[in-house]
Amino acid sequence: MVLQLYLDERIRKVGGKRFGLYRSRRNLPQISVFLGCMVIGKKQAGSSIVRSEVFDSGQDVRIRDSQPISSHSSESASYHLALRGSEMLGAAKLKETIEVTDAMVDCPVRGCTENVERRRRGTYKERTNFTCPVHKIIISPSTFEYPVDFDNLLWKDGPDRKLLARIRRSKRESRFAHNNSEDAVTWNVFRFLEKNGLVEGFLSSVAGTSAKSPEVVYWSYSQKEGASWSELNEARKEFGEKTEQGSEPDIAIKTDGSLFFVEAKLTSKNNTVPKRRGNSWKYETGGDGWFSRVFSSDFRAVAVVEKKYELLRLWLLGTWMAKQQNLDFYLINLVPSKREANIEAAFKKHIKEDSRRRFLRVTWEAIYQYVLKGNSSRDKGIMIRYFKEKTIGYDAKRRLQRAFSTS
Ligand SMILES: [Zn+2]
Repeated sequence: MVLQLYLDERIRKVGGKRFGLYRSRRNLPQISVFLGCMVIGKKQAGSSIVRSEVFDSGQDVRIRDSQPISSHSSESASYHLALRGSEMLGAAKLKETIEVTDAMVDCPVRGCTENVERRRRGTYKERTNFTCPVHKIIISPSTFEYPVDFDNLLWKDGPDRKLLARIRRSKRESRFAHNNSEDAVTWNVFRFLEKNGLVEGFLSSVAGTSAKSPEVVYWSYSQKEGASWSELNEARKEFGEKTEQGSEPDIAIKTDGSLFFVEAKLTSKNNTVPKRRGNSWKYETGGDGWFSRVFSSDFRAVAVVEKKYELLRLWLLGTWMAKQQNLDFYLINLVPSKREANIEAAFKKHIKEDSRRRFLRVTWEAIYQYVLKGNSSRDKGIMIRYFKEKTIGYDAKRRLQRAFSTS
């Protein structure tokens, strides 16, 4: 099926990538008006659309076989739409080991005899070269990607999709279709807690304090405001960040007495450093020198030497936001139990904690245990199976790796 798309909004630059907002003029009942946001390659006019993202529709839609457009101001372009996705592939459906040669990679789905060309870094080829013709997944030696973002998500009914579409307008980057996506796991777990009324109980168990009337902010999108979270934007401004490149907690939860920031990790590490020094940053001076109130080390020691730049920013902005509203603050680093075992010791030596602000390492498995103890429901069964079967692809010896320790 071919659908004509029209450039609807001026192209914005976000994180070095250009975005254009496209709409369809054809009134398809199953596809809502807002169709997508396309990432356009960094090259100048004549570049091709390299990836498509963001869909808000009644069914799975993804733009495939995208054709080059002649310039960024193109008024229209045609795309072939694939209306069918794949099923979620947990450990039970995947091979325990796969064969990888210099040229080929096995399809990881159990019973599948297909293999695809091996993908090499730094080379660009059409995705169809790496796609299993049977399962439609895009395969690399270490993991795979689903044809449709929603394939990797557990919660995707009408309200979920609407919320996701709105989130992705303010979210910096989204790679929900990738099997190793931290964002997909974050959505699957926190949306479950939210929909099942378990946020309060979980936070109370983690923080040892009551946490009433939680409001969940996904990647800086405020459901209450229906827009990018104004309180966070104020904090970004205070410390000299531009909104579009500003610090973004994966999840923020505001309760009657506390503010929680969750920095979720799945396969990536907490080690991050500033890429370049922004002219406008005021990390050490903003908020009336707030930095020295909540850190015992200087910026360089934490961000560069210790490589805790991301956590630094979240701790700085979060403690400041909580202070403005007289709330307690918790920065939660959510990690698999086998990873980041020493993060508390490593980060705590640089920060000033007290009874009203704390840094905590919490494991995904702790959430699993919390869910396991809860009341039975259909969603609970789905969630438990997800935790048990979630994988993070194949290791160097081509063995399937479970994401979590659930036994
Ligand atoms: Zn296959």
